[in-house]
Amino acid sequence: MLDFRGFRGRIGLLGKRLNPISTEVLIIGAGPAGLFQIFELGLLGITSHVVDSLATPGGQCTELYPDKPIYDIPALPVCGAQELVDRLMTQAKPFNPQFHLGQEVTELTRLDNGRFLARTALGTSFDAGAIVIAAGVGSFQPRRIGIEGAEAFEGSAIHYRVKSAADFHDKHLVIFGGGDSALDWTLDFAPKSASVTLVHRRPEFRAAPASVARMRELADAGRVRYLEGLAHALHTEGERFAGVVVKDADGALHTLRADHVLAFFGLHPKLGPVAEWGLELEKKALKVDTEKFETSVPGIFAIGDINSYPGKKKLILSGFHEAALAAFAIQRHLYPQKKQFLQYTTTSPVMQKRLGVNG
Ligand SMILES: Cc1cc2nc3c(=O)[nH]c(=O)nc-3n(C[C@H](O)[C@H](O)[C@H](O)COP(=O)(O)OP(=O)(O)OC[C@H]3O[C@@H](n4cnc5c(N)ncnc54)[C@H](O)[C@@H]3O)c2cc1C
Repeated sequence: MLDFRGFRGRIGLLGKRLNPISTEVLIIGAGPAGLFQIFELGLLGITSHVVDSLATPGGQCTELYPDKPIYDIPALPVCGAQELVDRLMTQAKPFNPQFHLGQEVTELTRLDNGRFLARTALGTSFDAGAIVIAAGVGSFQPRRIGIEGAEAFEGSAIHYRVKSAADFHDKHLVIFGGGDSALDWTLDFAPKSASVTLVHRRPEFRAAPASVARMRELADAGRVRYLEGLAHALHTEGERFAGVVVKDADGALHTLRADHVLAFFGLHPKLGPVAEWGLELEKKALKVDTEKFETSVPGIFAIGDINSYPGKKKLILSGFHEAALAAFAIQRHLYPQKKQFLQYTTTSPVMQKRLGVNG
């Protein structure tokens, strides 16, 4: 069960300092299931805030296979994964969801009044009547550079994403990776930084061929240095970060002096904080019932790839069905006195008003 220890003190502090955002529902995860949850709640007149640790909505579809076609979305014989996300965003738009992207929900606690307090790694906090965990296979984290002592310089000299490009202008940079992020930033920084060295572990790149060709042109012209190899060690001068040592395919070591290292090794999902909220787990997923898709804690629901129940299939359409049923259960949880009845979007003036159609 959720841990209530030391709880009041923390709420008081958070409440004063951070003014939690009050919302009917907080959705954790903006993958396809979380995005459709906004819509299903919206049809019932319930508003939501949505948090995702990624900088853009879409979950696995956007992060892992945006250009791939999906063939098993009902009534869409073929649909690009990013296109599906764009369509879900358009469908959710009438309900004006508030997105909080690039921040992981790290804390979730149940308040004495039955509401929930959630907090992100960036310090945003929410006071929510109900929670929907649509966290998929977990929150995506950057793959780290994996050399001893690197943690001490993460955020100052070693980076896994570019928050502000201007910070890297006129600086000596070493960029690791062979995907689009590594190549795009190499090309972008080449004319703006003091020097750019691109390091990739093998001759084949995952990045767009045109970007690779352009990088090779710049390397031939001496405006970018390209090295095939792996990060081997930090290069420090006393306590100070001074660059990185790279081991090439022949085992030779190269000391690359740099102000900053940017490593783009892709992202990997991590169940992470969800596993620490005291909810009953089954095979690294949240156990739910199939009537309400509620977890072991009343008021906390779980939909999409994150949940587990007999017969569960990790498919997008399963997440959509779960979102519909969870919406009704959330309405009952928030407003137990309210009479519930099924309405069709085709004929319901109330729903059509909420959707902003038919005047
Ligand atoms: C290559 C590939 C092809 C696929 N093809 C198909 C297909 O053809 N048809 C099909 O039906 N399915 C397909 N799938 C599966 C489908 O993508 C998943 O079932 C679907 O994405 C699950 O949606 P979701 O919203 O539950 O989770 P996800 O898409 O995983 O989204 C979860 C989101 O939650 C966020 N999150 C997690 N924890 C936190 C936290 N603590 N704080 C903040 N944010 C958090 C994550 O960052 C993520 O954005 C495919 C999957 C892959 C990898």
